[in-house]
Amino acid sequence: MDKIYDVIIPGGGLAGLTLSIQLKRAKPDISILILESMDNAAPTAAHKVGESTVELATHYMREVLDLKGYLEEHELPKHGLRFFFKTTDKNDITNRVELGPRLKLPVPSHQLDRGTLENYMSSHTQSLGSELIRGARAKDVLFSEHGHQVTYSKDGQDTTVKARWIADATGRGSLLKRKLNFVKPMEHHVNAVWWRLKGEIDIDDWSENTTWKSQLEPKLRYLSTVHFMDKGYWVWVIPLGSKNTSIGIVADPAVHPFEDINTYQKSLTWLQTNEPLCYKMLKPRGEGEGLLDFRVLKHFAHDSGQLYSANRWGVVGESGAFLDPLYSPGSDLIALANSWMTDLILRDLAGEDISIRAAVYEKAHLAHIENWIPIYQNKYLLMGNTQIMVFKIFWDWAIYWSVPCLIFTNKGFVNLKVIKELFASPSAIGSKFGELNKRIQQLFIEWQQYDIEIFTNHYIDPFDVPFLQKWQQELEMQYEPKALIEKVKENVLLLEKFAAAMFRLMSAKALDTPMDLKVDPYSICLQPGSGLTSITTGPNAMPPDEEIDKQVDIIWFYNKKTVSS
Ligand SMILES: Cc1cc2nc3c(=O)[nH]c(=O)nc-3n(C[C@H](O)[C@H](O)[C@H](O)COP(=O)(O)OP(=O)(O)OC[C@H]3O[C@@H](n4cnc5c(N)ncnc54)[C@H](O)[C@@H]3O)c2cc1C
Repeated sequence: MDKIYDVIIPGGGLAGLTLSIQLKRAKPDISILILESMDNAAPTAAHKVGESTVELATHYMREVLDLKGYLEEHELPKHGLRFFFKTTDKNDITNRVELGPRLKLPVPSHQLDRGTLENYMSSHTQSLGSELIRGARAKDVLFSEHGHQVTYSKDGQDTTVKARWIADATGRGSLLKRKLNFVKPMEHHVNAVWWRLKGEIDIDDWSENTTWKSQLEPKLRYLSTVHFMDKGYWVWVIPLGSKNTSIGIVADPAVHPFEDINTYQKSLTWLQTNEPLCYKMLKPRGEGEGLLDFRVLKHFAHDSGQLYSANRWGVVGESGAFLDPLYSPGSDLIALANSWMTDLILRDLAGEDISIRAAVYEKAHLAHIENWIPIYQNKYLLMGNTQIMVFKIFWDWAIYWSVPCLIFTNKGFVNLKVIKELFASPSAIGSKFGELNKRIQQLFIEWQQYDIEIFTNHYIDPFDVPFLQKWQQELEMQYEPKALIEKVKENVLLLEKFAAAMFRLMSAKALDTPMDLKVDPYSICLQPGSGLTSITTGPNAMPPDEEIDKQVDIIWFYNKKTVSS
């Protein structure tokens, strides 16, 4: 009990282990104790969910944590997210509208076997000097100026240890959130079930159609995170480095009750009705020894009232907030939280007063969650609308790559000047960005009544749209803080044009408005008649931009109205 660690991390999962590695890399002599309640090393394949990474988390793991070598040798490269939409005959995969990259992506990402990864990171962080105690369940924390005390139980015996900092990484155990009572409900009620199957599953084998197969190089579809989507749900197929496959169903209970999917047998019956080809291809794979596990999680979204405290504690990973796995963002949130936590800990250990930073980082993190909620809330009801989902997915990628990803890869989230300039006032560009996103997410809901067609036989690639391709490719570009702020402003202006272009197309189809309408993206709404004046004369009303319009036309499946005032 005499020793006072610099940091105790209760919870040695993805968040806790990555945080310890990040801290050790930044300050090799920092003393860290990780308490992990699980006794043994994790099994491969059938461990935790959270297997697909996207750009922000990939940058974090490869560049910030320097795990590039491990990831390339032991985990799979990922070929982006891939979507198959509603169709009239779901027995034929080739007839569905497919959205996903054709060619190998320049910016990498990975498919993670969580068991293999966590086992590697456990030994790696110990080789860097962190202490890890397995089978140690953190039971309580007492906060004190002279070192916080953590009591843990192991083999039926309680032990108390001390540290200057506590970083809670207990996942859904949420040690500190429960103790200090900052649980915050999240109004996004979606459920998930998932299971792992032995062996590789390549959806290229799900059809004999050679034209369809040859749209991509062999094995590229296999390496994607595949989503089969229709009203109220999506089904994932994810390949794992251990040569097994992860399958999941994520569903809004308003359309697909949890009770219809909460056992393996019920999930198969559900697949038979909703995704018959998946049923046909997956059911035989789960027979005998083929089914490795089956897990369920009801109402997985949760929020957090607090995140970082100047009293030297914080929460990272799922012990804080979690929204929705649609775009695989869980490890992004870990990367963001760990980077804020690391910055606070290092500054405090160096003797700096961190009270302002702790408050600013918490505000920035909570604002990020707030901005991202509308991406998911009530959106499962739109998943059977191909045109809306294509617009939405492109929009969601655009806002992700052009603002948070870029700020993260440029270390802008730990630069007070950058945060202040971008997010401090309601008129700051970052705050406008949040407003713009809310408006567009609402537009997708308003447009649903007009989007009635079922589309088939279409392949669409995010890189068909040049401005999206450019944003993805530029993610690793480095800017000085001033240039970063200017770049984000420039990107938000382009997002405004993208929003206006989508609105012109939707409004022309729904309300027969002309294609050369001036549009204020912050006033967009699809109410017949009344709203139009403020949309066309609002302070930000912009005329069509020929170049952007041309690019947005690529992802519009209906016939385009010709320009006429
Ligand atoms: C359906 C679904 C799909 C998802 N898909 C993705 C995806 O594709 N990509 C992605 O990035 N994210 C995804 N996520 C999110 C991802 O699962 C989480 O972000 C991630 O697992 C959280 O890691 P963590 O370390 O916070 O929690 P965990 O990985 O759960 O780790 C917490 C650790 O703390 C330990 N622990 C708990 N209580 C105590 C205690 N009291 N004392 C000591 N130890 C304790 C546990 O044993 C565990 O090892 C998904 C989430 C869901 C629900």
